[in-house]
Amino acid sequence: MSTDKKIKRPRGKAALNHGKCIACGARCESSCPVSCIEMNPAGEPTVLAEKCIGCQKCVKVCPAGALEMTFTPEELAILAELDKQGAVTADELDDEARELQQRLAAYRGVWVFVEQTEGEAAKVSWELMGKGRELADSLGVRLTAVVMGEGVEHLCHESFGYGADQAYLLDAPVFRFYRTEAYLKGLCHLIDLHKPEIILMGATGLGRDLAGAVATVVGTGLTADCTGLDVDDKRNLMQTRPAFGGNIMATIMCDRFRPQMATVRPHVMHMPEFAQRSGEIIRISCPVQEDEILTKVLEIIQDNKGDDHVDIAGVEFIVSGGRGMMNKENFAILHELADELGGTVGASRSAVDSGWMPHERQVGQTGKTVRPKIYIACGISGAIQHLVGMQDSDLIIAINRDKDAPIFQVAHYGIVGDLFEVVPAITARLRELRMRGGVADGNVIKQAIGA
Ligand SMILES: Cc1cc2nc3c(=O)[nH]c(=O)nc-3n(C[C@H](O)[C@H](O)[C@H](O)COP(=O)(O)OP(=O)(O)OC[C@H]3O[C@@H](n4cnc5c(N)ncnc54)[C@H](O)[C@@H]3O)c2cc1C
Repeated sequence: MSTDKKIKRPRGKAALNHGKCIACGARCESSCPVSCIEMNPAGEPTVLAEKCIGCQKCVKVCPAGALEMTFTPEELAILAELDKQGAVTADELDDEARELQQRLAAYRGVWVFVEQTEGEAAKVSWELMGKGRELADSLGVRLTAVVMGEGVEHLCHESFGYGADQAYLLDAPVFRFYRTEAYLKGLCHLIDLHKPEIILMGATGLGRDLAGAVATVVGTGLTADCTGLDVDDKRNLMQTRPAFGGNIMATIMCDRFRPQMATVRPHVMHMPEFAQRSGEIIRISCPVQEDEILTKVLEIIQDNKGDDHVDIAGVEFIVSGGRGMMNKENFAILHELADELGGTVGASRSAVDSGWMPHERQVGQTGKTVRPKIYIACGISGAIQHLVGMQDSDLIIAINRDKDAPIFQVAHYGIVGDLFEVVPAITARLRELRMRGGVADGNVIKQAIGA
């Protein structure tokens, strides 16, 4: 086939895929711009082929795949040739696709929302800055920190150190304490002004609240609790997260709306190195007045959870127990081992549900995501919902009497045996090594387990 002359891409005709129609209520009929669909008494569409212009609208609205595009053998040959040449050019895209492309192209740049309390940034914001840097480099755009608060200019400089090229600074008394209405107005105003293609936020209480509100107001998609982020060659953000109770990992894309918004839990992404770098601070005049905000902060009451409260998400050594611990009292041997390491005790959901450990110690999909230097799983089978919360730990040691337990698939070292014998033996060996001057690290624990 000659390529000298421009070949027009055949549009085909819509046709019924017999047996698939669910008689959903004739959305296909109303979607047709040339009225070429008629409904039969059974509620199934009949496409008048001579009138069909191949716009595909009916095919796109059908929820059951009951309408499909069909092509004559000649048209199929042309399509095959065009595909071989990769010959889809802009003017061959239909009007809708072109309009969509233009709409999406107005949005450029990657933003990271810098969450702060009393001027101190949440670490997850810097973890996201590291991931944001990678995404911005892949897309060839600037990485922007969004800093909101009162007296928070120092966070812009900190953002540059973690990789941001520039920072939008919304600094005003109305942003002193987080209130959804004020931050929502501020962030939506910024989005309206500068149109980013991607916004990342921490999946913290604040981040979840704000991200959901912003996505609703600007009319875009939001993927919560992502565990992986990447971009495809069409600038779509590929947002991976556990789905269906954690049994599969789904990659979600928001390919028709911008900005693409994602939240990520603390400790899921790597903390980038801090380096002295500079960037541009762009001050944005405050778009919110105090009297527009209905919520007033009267008093800040510190959350006092007592001396034994630990945020396991930030701990370097974790010894976790599961259903294999048999009862609450048996956790004492894990506390001994954790003390020896200078760490703390975590738990699987089964152990928490049994009342052996408090929920704040739960590791996994509905607990905390942890990334310690050493994670020792004792009597934990390794269900996917547990693994998503700890599989990025630097060193994983699993103790289980079932040699086929899935936990061994993510463990760097696995000990098949009875935890009630193995754990005290490791503790005793560590104690011995410590007496000889060893410090709790990967090497000493490897020595203790004989690796
Ligand atoms: C929506 C959803 C969210 C969830 N979120 C979480 C979550 O955040 N975190 C979480 O952990 N789970 C979560 N789960 C539950 C998860 O599916 C598993 O049920 C749970 O992780 C199992 O806990 P376990 O490994 O302690 O218990 P089990 O699966 O019962 O495993 C016990 C293990 O102990 C071993 N064992 C028993 N005795 C000994 C011994 N003496 N010595 C050595 N080994 C021994 C056994 O061989 C077994 O492998 C969630 C589930 C759902 C549906």
